[in-house]
Amino acid sequence: MTMSTRRSILALMSAFAATTLLGKVSAQSPTACADPATLPLSQRSRRRALGYTSPSTDAQKHCSLCAFFTSTGVGCGTCQMLSGGTVEATAVCTSFAKKA
Ligand code: SF4
Repeated sequence: MTMSTRRSILALMSAFAATTLLGKVSAQSPTACADPATLPLSQRSRRRALGYTSPSTDAQKHCSLCAFFTSTGVGCGTCQMLSGGTVEATAVCTSFAKKA
């Protein structure tokens, strides 16, 4: 194997790795705090039971305005009603209670 062939193969491998990584990043929503597919069954069940919806369609009702929400970073937080489960700040559920 020549040096030029080896470099070509390495360049192709680097390009493939970069493309794969970018594909995974762009496939996730920029506001997704937790991948619903990887949440424990208990969290998925609670979310379903509370009608968790992300994003909220009501600008006056979303997790960041809810008394049960604790921010953990930009756009993300935890919810007491979901036993500390991760939620998006822009989501909402039927247990929404406006912060005092
Ligand atoms: S109770 Fe509902 S609206 Fe309030 S933080 Fe939890 S998921 Fe969001």
